[in-house]
Amino acid sequence: MRDMTMVTNAHKANGAGSIPLGIPTQDQELAVRVRLTQALQMSLDPTEIISLFFHQIQPLVQISGVIFKSSTTKDDSRVGRESLHHCDYRLTTDEGYLGEVIFSRSKRFIETELIKIEQLLSALVYPLRNAVRYQTAMRLALLDPLTLVGNRAALNNNLKRELQLANRQQQQLSLLMIDVDHFKKINDDYGHHRGDLILCEIAKTIQSVCRSTDSIFRYGGEEFVVLLSNTNAIGAEIIAERIRERISETEILHNTMAINTTVSIGVATHNGDQNEGIEELFERADKALYSAKQSGRNCTINSTANAQTR
Ligand code: GH3
Ligand code: MG
Ligand code: MG
Repeated sequence: MRDMTMVTNAHKANGAGSIPLGIPTQDQELAVRVRLTQALQMSLDPTEIISLFFHQIQPLVQISGVIFKSSTTKDDSRVGRESLHHCDYRLTTDEGYLGEVIFSRSKRFIETELIKIEQLLSALVYPLRNAVRYQTAMRLALLDPLTLVGNRAALNNNLKRELQLANRQQQQLSLLMIDVDHFKKINDDYGHHRGDLILCEIAKTIQSVCRSTDSIFRYGGEEFVVLLSNTNAIGAEIIAERIRERISETEILHNTMAINTTVSIGVATHNGDQNEGIEELFERADKALYSAKQSGRNCTINSTANAQTR
């Protein structure tokens, strides 16, 4: 793999091979570079940037696929088709390691092509860094910094989208509103810091019960919301009960003493009623949660069935 702190010197090719087809003139090459620089300003999406790069450089170096492995996310950006021969670059800016770019094609790369790729990469590095930065900022803006689940802004975005999707696809959408029982007393007894750790533990427990398609949010202080797409009232109640039981079974150690917490849960299911908006769905879940608190806490109330479960 080659290291690219911006553009470096030419490196050794990964084997001798064929000569590129049709050598572009200096003017053609300049035109490609200008178009490339302009095109890369057009997006703040890393995959789109990689795609623009891939298409724009074809007249100068033919490649069949590019992969970008960002240092900040697990999702790779993939464009084109991966092939047998590779050349890899580690991209580094003055702010540190940005990620790895892997070019591939069926024919081996030759030295002059590698030099060209390295020169072209200098146009990619900063637009790509800006896109990665932007994506990271967007992701962080929607995360609760303590528990690392979605925050309220993320909930608003998702709920709107999920409700529209449920109506369009005529699917049910369930919402769980989860509130920690007597959390004020936990803070009073064990301190605010321990309270924070318990909130993190509760978020993790909710995540461990939910499917990857379910979305979890911290709605407020010690309140969480779970959106269960394509889930009816019965399914939602089963998941709510699993969450409630798992949390009540989880012991958190504090100076060798085990702390047990419980939660109350309100469940509401949107059945495709076009007149029901976000506020109404929320209100139903909130009322069910209130009933759960009134019923002695550590229980689930389903607004649809109007039945209590423990
Ligand atoms: P209930 O069973 O009726 O829900 O009682 P409760 O004590 O949980 O409810 P209440 O609304 O009276 O208190 C909520 C508490 O949650 C008070 C507040 O200090 C605490 N809290 C809110 N946000 C945080 C936080 O980020 N960290 C910690 N440690 N505590 C928080
Ligand atoms: Mg509360
Ligand atoms: Mg509470």
